[in-house]
Amino acid sequence: MKIVDPATSAVIAEVAEDAAAAVKRKYLRARAAQPAWAATPVRKRLEAIRAFRERIVAMRETLARTLTREVGKPIRQSRNELDGLLVRIDFFLAEAAHVLREEKVHVDAAGKLEERISHEPLGVIANISAWNYPYFVGSNVFVPALIAGNAVLYKPSEYATLTGLHIAEMLDEAGVPKDVFVPVIGGGATGAALLRQPIDGVFFTGSYATGARVGAAAGRKMIKVQLELGGKDPVYICDDVDIGTAAASIADGAFYNTGQSCCSVERIYVHEKVYDAFVSAFVAEVKGYRIGDPMDESTYIGAITRRPQIEVLKRQVADAKKKGAKLLVGGHAIKGKGNWFAPTVFANVDHRMRLMKDESFGPIIGIQKVASDADAVALMNDTEYGLTAGVYTPDEKRARKILAQVRSGSVYWNCCDHVSPRLPWSGLGHSGIGLTLSTYGIQTFTRPKAWHLRGATAR
Ligand code: NDP
Repeated sequence: MKIVDPATSAVIAEVAEDAAAAVKRKYLRARAAQPAWAATPVRKRLEAIRAFRERIVAMRETLARTLTREVGKPIRQSRNELDGLLVRIDFFLAEAAHVLREEKVHVDAAGKLEERISHEPLGVIANISAWNYPYFVGSNVFVPALIAGNAVLYKPSEYATLTGLHIAEMLDEAGVPKDVFVPVIGGGATGAALLRQPIDGVFFTGSYATGARVGAAAGRKMIKVQLELGGKDPVYICDDVDIGTAAASIADGAFYNTGQSCCSVERIYVHEKVYDAFVSAFVAEVKGYRIGDPMDESTYIGAITRRPQIEVLKRQVADAKKKGAKLLVGGHAIKGKGNWFAPTVFANVDHRMRLMKDESFGPIIGIQKVASDADAVALMNDTEYGLTAGVYTPDEKRARKILAQVRSGSVYWNCCDHVSPRLPWSGLGHSGIGLTLSTYGIQTFTRPKAWHLRGATAR
């Protein structure tokens, strides 16, 4: 399998792809190794993850450069991802032991019957991951899954394979047995072969289309399934905001990672009283973004990781123009080597346009005028997705009232495009099922086992 730099179209590496027989062998190795890992004390498993964290710190620059080369992410944003990864690992290291501790939930009056809950690992799980934040979306799964005693068959996206191999190497060096964390290398066919193994759970990050297929395969097997899928995340700007601050924050939320984030701002609604002022502040902000070599320290807009996405963006531009939207900046692919798309802003958009309904997953955004908070809420909820939503206003009561009516897994007041390890990350509708992060995101890699112990003496 050729690994291509999306910024230049140059082949930067070639790796061997796992055919179906190799996937099966890896599964069998993981199955054989898992019981011993589950029997290893939690303290020891945490030690291995702590050592993994140390490897990341030591390798930070190498890892950031590999990530930038294979996905086209600006180098500073690659470093930010690695720094954010450490914060997530620290959360799991601090919380896992008490979440996994066996609980005594009842002792009868005579002290004869004791009821306990233990948190058993699921067994061998598949972690099928995405390329846009491979360290984040991968570690949300494999770190707590490993701490909980599972073996993990980890399939990085084919667009983030080198990063996946770095992760496997660092976990190995950290003391996680080679057969307990096993990279499975390849594209969609390899992912499908992985799902044919008798695994105990599948944790998938990716698109709705693939997620629906993964969910169907898991349903037939009756195994645990989690799907972290896409979004069409809205923000609403009320009429009482500081325009400059809101425009800068939301433009960053829309264009950071070149718009290739599941929680990127993808729709903007602005109260009519401040619409024109907001649009001009927003466009001025976007015009200031530096687009170019992702390795350059001053680059803010990088390459489009997957070439086919350029066609999706072009179709959304053509459709919006045809239906009367006003193009304010960008609107075209950038010619030359690699995959590039100019940061694009449309005003006068509405929900007849694909741009306001379909996930864009690129540096393109539409800004729609609304007459009231009620109109904004109705439009924010007019979507198949439900990952995040934000509102900008100095008035907390107003913000809370609006956010309470919005259907989405996360809501933001005066911020956007943000993930906290302490809070559950989940979506509604086409944004998926299940969750990662928070203490729930540790528990999710376990199966509660009920113990009825008659004759035990109360302690
Ligand atoms: P895809 O759905 O194309 O791929 C996701 C993963 O599934 C990849 O590893 C892919 O392999 C693999 N895959 C493809 N076909 C199959 C199959 N038939 N069976 C099993 N596995 C398969 O998504 P992208 O990688 O393009 O990621 C972008 C999408 O992910 C966006 O929609 C985005 O919103 C979403 N996303 C959601 C996040 C969240 O937390 N909610 C976080 C990040 C992204 P390969 O790539 O090698 O083909």
